[in-house]
Amino acid sequence: MSMAEDEYAYDEYMTQLYEEHKNQAIEEFTFERLQSYYRDNRLLAKPAFTTLCEAKSLMDLNATAGFVFAAIAMEVGLKETLLKPIVSGLVHMPSVASLVTDLAVSNRGMDKYGKLLLQALREHGGVDLDTYTRPNSNTPVWQEMMEVQHKRNLIVHKANSASQIDADLALAVAGTVVEGLFPTVVKKMGLHLHDGFRICDDWKCEYEGTPAGEILKELKNA
Ligand SMILES: [Zn+2]
Repeated sequence: MSMAEDEYAYDEYMTQLYEEHKNQAIEEFTFERLQSYYRDNRLLAKPAFTTLCEAKSLMDLNATAGFVFAAIAMEVGLKETLLKPIVSGLVHMPSVASLVTDLAVSNRGMDKYGKLLLQALREHGGVDLDTYTRPNSNTPVWQEMMEVQHKRNLIVHKANSASQIDADLALAVAGTVVEGLFPTVVKKMGLHLHDGFRICDDWKCEYEGTPAGEILKELKNA
């Protein structure tokens, strides 16, 4: 198969898959499945969180290196902490959920599956990536992610370098995903975070350090 035929076949496949899943997926989405995904994968944000920390420390040394790490944190954060949980709410089999997530964040899959995922994320996760803008920015964060991804490809495949402005944008967008949107969705699930990434469902944490918390502690030890 030639490259063009190959791409055509892929697009056809994506269209078919999308049409098959679209309505059924939205109808069968369950909040419980989404919530339990976060509960069952409590450390899902750790790799993105760690990479974001590395990006921050690389920033002063080398803008391009910092940019690449920020872009990785952004991409992995988006996939692992937001999209894959949403897909798992749509698709029952974990292996299929992984596949669909990969397809959705691939360049050509984004148009078709991306919309479906963004819709589900908006309705069930309380996060609207389509319209969300960072403070001090007029561009939707979704569009900024595309910009970062494009630039990242030029760096990785064509050895381009990143300016400080590019690097700052990548870091800000990655931070929005890992430190802004992810915690928002976790909260919407009735869960909370420790150390910035660890998901916890112990309702008693809320009372830690308060008089009620002391009583709970005593009850536990009694
Ligand atoms: Zn806790």
